[in-house]
Amino acid sequence: MKQAILLLMMMGHIAAMLAQNSVSSPDGRLTVTVYTEEGRAMYAVDYDGQRMVMPSRLGLTTDYADFTRGMTMGEVRMEDVRKPYDMTRTKRAHVAYEARRMDVALLNAKGQRMDVTFMVGNNDIGMRYTLYRQANDNPKSAAVKSEATSFRLPEGTTTFLSPQSKAMVGWERTKPSYEEVYGADEAMEKPSAFGEGYVFPALFHVGDSGWVLVSETGVASGYVGSHLSDYDRETGYTIAYPMAGENNGNGTPWAGIALPGSTPWRTITVGRTLAPIVETTVAYDLVEPLYEAGGDYRPGRYTWSWLIGQDESITYDEQVRFIDLAAAMGFEYCLVDNWWDRNIGRTRMAQLARYAAGKGVGLLLWYNSNGYENDAPQTPRQCMNTATARDREMAWLKSIGVKGIKVDFFGGDKQQTMQLYEDILCDANRYGLQVVFHGCTLPRGWERMFPNFVSSEAVLASENVYFTEEHARREPFDLTLHPFCRNAVAAMDWGGIIMNRHMSADNRSRHTRKTTNTFEMASGITMQTAVQCVAMRPNNLQELSQVELDFLRTMPTAWDETRYIDGYPGRYVVLARRCGSRWYIAGLNAGQEERRLTLTLPMLKAGQTVGYYTDNKQGETALKPLRVDKRQQVKIVMQPNGGMVLISST
Ligand code: CA
Repeated sequence: MKQAILLLMMMGHIAAMLAQNSVSSPDGRLTVTVYTEEGRAMYAVDYDGQRMVMPSRLGLTTDYADFTRGMTMGEVRMEDVRKPYDMTRTKRAHVAYEARRMDVALLNAKGQRMDVTFMVGNNDIGMRYTLYRQANDNPKSAAVKSEATSFRLPEGTTTFLSPQSKAMVGWERTKPSYEEVYGADEAMEKPSAFGEGYVFPALFHVGDSGWVLVSETGVASGYVGSHLSDYDRETGYTIAYPMAGENNGNGTPWAGIALPGSTPWRTITVGRTLAPIVETTVAYDLVEPLYEAGGDYRPGRYTWSWLIGQDESITYDEQVRFIDLAAAMGFEYCLVDNWWDRNIGRTRMAQLARYAAGKGVGLLLWYNSNGYENDAPQTPRQCMNTATARDREMAWLKSIGVKGIKVDFFGGDKQQTMQLYEDILCDANRYGLQVVFHGCTLPRGWERMFPNFVSSEAVLASENVYFTEEHARREPFDLTLHPFCRNAVAAMDWGGIIMNRHMSADNRSRHTRKTTNTFEMASGITMQTAVQCVAMRPNNLQELSQVELDFLRTMPTAWDETRYIDGYPGRYVVLARRCGSRWYIAGLNAGQEERRLTLTLPMLKAGQTVGYYTDNKQGETALKPLRVDKRQQVKIVMQPNGGMVLISST
């Protein structure tokens, strides 16, 4: 009896503590609780009363203070946040961001203070630390050496994770570059493939309770890019900083910040279904534009000879064919890949840019980011790594009318590399150039922070479908996974809707693509990037049907709204995107069986007829009318490795 009373008293104490130190979302369903235990600052996350993140650690270690032990809580402040904003070039044009903010002061045994801030929206949490100057207004700068911040998911949670690579490995020592395979539904206890943990974003299936997506945003020159450690039963996944060996060992693996200053936002998106994961805008909600757009950065499509033509295709005549192809398709851009300086030469590139402009096509030019961070040999090299080189190069690009650059082969996530990304973007904006990165880190809020940032690869992309048949077999898995994970937090340059049947210029030799034509077309809707690669070839103009060509000609790439309809990561996906008043509802099936679905589409009217693109028996895309029934439902079929698209007439 005594024990029971004691227990009740303790529970009462815990309840009081929770009431004071927890913050709930505007709709009251998502709650974060902060407390200290044995001198450690801790937090936990609940959704609809279900625990989604178990008690996990907070804290970090700097050169002037240790905030991982001897911690006590100080004052707690609450605030309601409303921040409606507009955005271009992403999955959503207008966001009515609302959250409740909680700032908690945390003091170590020496009385040194750090704050932890939680921004709790209805399905998204942003979490960051703020560090202050101490006695005598010093120090004014700090080195943040490591973090204790962790994410401990409930027992039985399964994972959708991509391992972090070792540093200075892979082709010409260019890794890490976020180009490892994602696993699906794996056990948390399974060690990571290279012993270096996992990259963001990280998706977790918390059994019947729902889904959790962990990532970070707002990282540029002000911090390192972080990743997650391997799983530990006691602490879960802990924030890890870059590996010392990245960039050939140059640059610090820790972060330098000016005081007072804040770490980037770590984000936790929580949902009972996958809808909040697919639809999240948390990467953009917590950041602000860093400058005004210096040019008219138009969304669009681009042709790209390199995917199937490789280096030999970078000749003047072949690029003319791909400019003509872009013009024939009404595409806005043509990307000229590596070695153009050697194979075509700068004088003739100016001529090529004039030719393209005459056809209404803008050129995008490839660059090597190096530098001294790895051995990637392709040129132009040493044009993007210093301010003086960029100034010269970008002035020339502007003078010949180039519309954008693709910069490749970065060396990891150290702060000096994050600085390089920011510097390239900022300089390019002064010359009206938009920027795509390849061989690179995950963009963290960059579409909103940098108005001329378009997209990053940061994925095991389409080039691998060309390289090996094994990756061609993986394509349906990858493209049904990324809408729930990699592409949910940032634009993704997959590098091409592929329309060749064979992975060769003659379209007869080498291995075949394993997907149907409709799958590839639908992937242009399910994949989100404001400048989308359509890696079709001139021969496809004769090979594809009118329905297929017309679809690609009119496919939008920037969206007003995005909604999850159905799916499971790595198996199938159906999502809806709106461009103006028109809805595009696209599905991909990674299964080896036909998939029949009844879709509920609240954005369509009962009795409305929509255009239904579906695979026919000849392996072509058929376009049929499909009527929405009175419950706003339609029945659709997707073939094995096939897809479908519904387009509303208005
Ligand atoms: Ca790549």
